[in-house]
Amino acid sequence: MKRTKIKDILLNDSFDYKVNVKGWVRSFRNNQFVALNDGSCMGNLQIVIELNTDETLLKRITNGASISVDGMVVQSQGKGQKVEVKADSIEILGDCDPEKFPLQLKNKPSLEYLREVAHLRFRTNTFSAIFRLRHSLAYAIHKFFNDRGFVYLHTPIITASDAEGAGEMFRVSTLPFENPPRDEDGGVNYKEDFFGRCTNLTVSGQLEAELGAMALSEVYTFGPTFRAENSNTPRHLAEFWMIEPEVAFNDIYDNMDLAEDLLKYVIEYSLAHNKEDLDFLNQRLIEEEKLKPMNERSEMALIEKLEFVLHNKFERITYTEAINILLESPAYKKKKFQYDVKWGIDLQSEHERYLVEKHFKKPVIVTGYPKDIKAFYMRQNDDGKTVAAMDILAPGIGEIVGGSQREERLDKLTERMHEMHIPTDEMYWYLDTRRFGAVPHAGFGLGFERLVLFITGMTNIRDVIPFPRTPKNADF
Ligand code: ATP
Ligand code: MN
Repeated sequence: MKRTKIKDILLNDSFDYKVNVKGWVRSFRNNQFVALNDGSCMGNLQIVIELNTDETLLKRITNGASISVDGMVVQSQGKGQKVEVKADSIEILGDCDPEKFPLQLKNKPSLEYLREVAHLRFRTNTFSAIFRLRHSLAYAIHKFFNDRGFVYLHTPIITASDAEGAGEMFRVSTLPFENPPRDEDGGVNYKEDFFGRCTNLTVSGQLEAELGAMALSEVYTFGPTFRAENSNTPRHLAEFWMIEPEVAFNDIYDNMDLAEDLLKYVIEYSLAHNKEDLDFLNQRLIEEEKLKPMNERSEMALIEKLEFVLHNKFERITYTEAINILLESPAYKKKKFQYDVKWGIDLQSEHERYLVEKHFKKPVIVTGYPKDIKAFYMRQNDDGKTVAAMDILAPGIGEIVGGSQREERLDKLTERMHEMHIPTDEMYWYLDTRRFGAVPHAGFGLGFERLVLFITGMTNIRDVIPFPRTPKNADF
């Protein structure tokens, strides 16, 4: 018989039909009731086993074992479910020794422990909810852009441009580590390398996306990016996914509107399509909050927070205003900030979180950052000091989006590149967009895992990507 997904049985109120179901045993009570899960939804299907079933078969129905069941969907006698399956026959697909099963060894395994068994953590309610949500969010992002006529552009993963995060990149090379070919000066001779030059894993698809936008008008990328920054924080990964729209003819205000629309769209989408998973994560968070001291508890539950963000306009302030708010804050006056506050600093995560969590209590878009702390391609404002940058700060996360209106004026752009020692000749391909039919344009980067953190209410970025890569960690 063809397999039916558990979700389809539970969603369907009808009964008195035969099915085959397959899945993993979540629990087995009284030698009679199996809670079966196949990952299609949060809920388990109750399987009722005949009392006279063979002893040796019953012994093999352990937590974690995989089974196939043929039976009849019937109205449930018990509380907690509308329908259940009365088993006619059970086949063990894969045994699972409960004495050795890592998920069985701990009573309530912590998130930290589950990271050590990340290859199995999909089997828990929490992680299956997270990864169903992650999938939904990826789909919603593509739908958002597709519905607006954007072209999904695949920018390269291997790149020779090192203009952005110099020193933070992973090198891609086939040269022998031990004894690489040398040039006259004794340096590594990359002319002999696979691509005939030095190449790295990309830190962003933006520069290439700009080239696409200069013909297709509206493009976006959604791909993996790599940063070898040694920041072991709960918000940084060495390998993460980024969504980068780039739009011709948009200015910084259009850019802010697009980012706000995108975030609200995906929140709305997940509330509409992943309610069961969100309800579970909401409840999980409420339980966790109970363990915290009163003054550290968050003011809103997860779903409440998402609905609040959905229905309120993001605050929009300039960097200068942000600095002034911080300087006026009780936290600053009581010297609660670890890092100093003055005009010109790069906002630290503690500053960002003060602005969103304590001051505005909602997402904040900060614009007009000092040019010295931002990338060369951001459009210079008339004040000569700031650029048309925009960061979106989210409660519990800090920076979730970083973007800008791009400098489309060739003279201003090359001048800035010279100041920042970025070789203009190697970047001729980028500068060509400014030579041949330049137009104002803008874009941003949304960190996908930061978005998943925000929507799931998880607090460590390692818990929202299936296989996290962080300094000293690339297991599985
Ligand atoms: P941060 O200051 O938090 O390190 P950034 O300023 O380096 O971020 P951008 O270069 O603007 O970040 O990248 C765009 C977006 O990509 C960020 O807003 C963030 O959502 C995400 N992002 C950046 N670095 C990482 C990382 N190491 N791991 C996960 N997401 C990241
Ligand atoms: Mn950074």
